[in-house]
Amino acid sequence: MSTSALFEHSYHSLGSDYVTPTVATPVSAPKWLAWNTQLAEQLGWPEHWGHNDSTLNTLAGNTQFEGSKPGAAAYAGHQFGNYNPQLGDGRAILLGEWRRPDGQLLDIQLKGAGPTPYSRGGDGRSPIGPVVREYLMSEAMYALGIPTTRALAAVATGDPVYRQQLEPGAILTRVAKSHIRIGTVQFFAMTRQGAGLNELVTYVTERHYLGALEKARQLDPEATHAQVLLNEVTRALASLVAHWQALGFIHGVLNTDNMLLCGETVDYGPCAFMDTFAAGQVFSSIDTGGRYAFGNQPGIVHWNLSVLAQCLLPLLNEDQDKALALAQESVDQFPSLFTEIYSARLAAKFGLDAMRETDHALIESFFNQLEKDKLDFTLAFRWLTEVANASLEGTILEELFIPSDGLLNWQEQWSQRRDQATPASSTRMKKANPVVVPRNHWVAQAISSAEEGDTELMETLHSRWQDPFTWQAADAKFAAAPSNEQIVHRTFCGT
Ligand code: AMP
Ligand code: MG
Repeated sequence: MSTSALFEHSYHSLGSDYVTPTVATPVSAPKWLAWNTQLAEQLGWPEHWGHNDSTLNTLAGNTQFEGSKPGAAAYAGHQFGNYNPQLGDGRAILLGEWRRPDGQLLDIQLKGAGPTPYSRGGDGRSPIGPVVREYLMSEAMYALGIPTTRALAAVATGDPVYRQQLEPGAILTRVAKSHIRIGTVQFFAMTRQGAGLNELVTYVTERHYLGALEKARQLDPEATHAQVLLNEVTRALASLVAHWQALGFIHGVLNTDNMLLCGETVDYGPCAFMDTFAAGQVFSSIDTGGRYAFGNQPGIVHWNLSVLAQCLLPLLNEDQDKALALAQESVDQFPSLFTEIYSARLAAKFGLDAMRETDHALIESFFNQLEKDKLDFTLAFRWLTEVANASLEGTILEELFIPSDGLLNWQEQWSQRRDQATPASSTRMKKANPVVVPRNHWVAQAISSAEEGDTELMETLHSRWQDPFTWQAADAKFAAAPSNEQIVHRTFCGT
């Protein structure tokens, strides 16, 4: 098989309204920042496109992979609640789709490879900071089991980018089930007033939810693509946000253009894992109103789904009232779906076999205690895990986490409740409560070093975060909460 047969271009084939041909702009002195050997293997990526000079040049945008067909995709979106009719890939270029050995089709995209027709005056570039952040965060999220886009490579360009100051530029190679967003549907439904919407909805439903479509059609031969898409995206995003809440992840910029229909986490701009727990926690420097605060995430995802539903109305039924009823019914599933999935995750985290009505008060008082005593989210749950497994003394957790009196009191109630739980529920806690998460102060240090040309810390962190649920030798460092001086209070999207 020739290599040119390896890329596919199914989305690009829908036409230039969807993807506009655009080539990357060459850079002066590419250098490797990271190459993800594990992901390359999972992709069945060819050896000769691996960690070598020729690939480096291609991933920097100076040459093209044989068979790639670079382009920029159109989309729109609600940003902080306001509709922007045209966004699009302003600093991303889709090279094509890659079929993994198991048949899964994946987008391969360069982020930061130069201007596109959607750059709207921007430079199409990315500073090294956001590239290092996305590489580390997305791969750590993957290891934690959270659906996410991934990072195959990161390269420095050798050219400066101009932000508040001059910063070194870099390019990320991103891999996703697809980059089609709620905002993509909005572009065709709202900006284009429906032109091309049907083709998009058919395409994306068959690409991501073919099994669900076939099942729905067995029950009802008239089932529409739009209905299946809305139901499945509702389910996928309820599950995704439940996972974020369970691990203390704050996305930071949950605009509709940053919500993928395939249900993967995308856009690691101002995101962060919480250190001390606070329901109202915000890191993003641009989220001044706290719209995307930790505790608001489920509600915001619900709101974003209602935008998707509204876009799909004309395809749900010819009769407007019927379409509205179908859309409403679908979106109304979100709260109960979220609660069901989140409760199951909480039950696992607290070592309970199942959630009972009376457990809600117990769990609420746990979170209240964490917030009141400013305790670390990740370490508090791991402490419960080691307590439940009688393994506290075998770890360095005792040095890293000192439970408050309030938490110790709470623990007594919890232990009483757990008298009736099975041993399997204790074991399960170890896979629900990580030892390490990609904490912001480490990400910040890795970025500073990479800016100075040193990628050693980046490699160390990447490697540590691949195995988040077990203790390792250097965890006195990696599992610890940040000291007061180390705490990162603000994150930036780096656009
Ligand atoms: P983001 O904040 O990454 O979700 O980006 C929002 C929109 O701004 C998208 O359409 C991006 O493509 C665009 N954008 C962000 N940064 C740049 C840049 N440096 N040059 C051109 N477009 C950009
Ligand atoms: Mg975005």
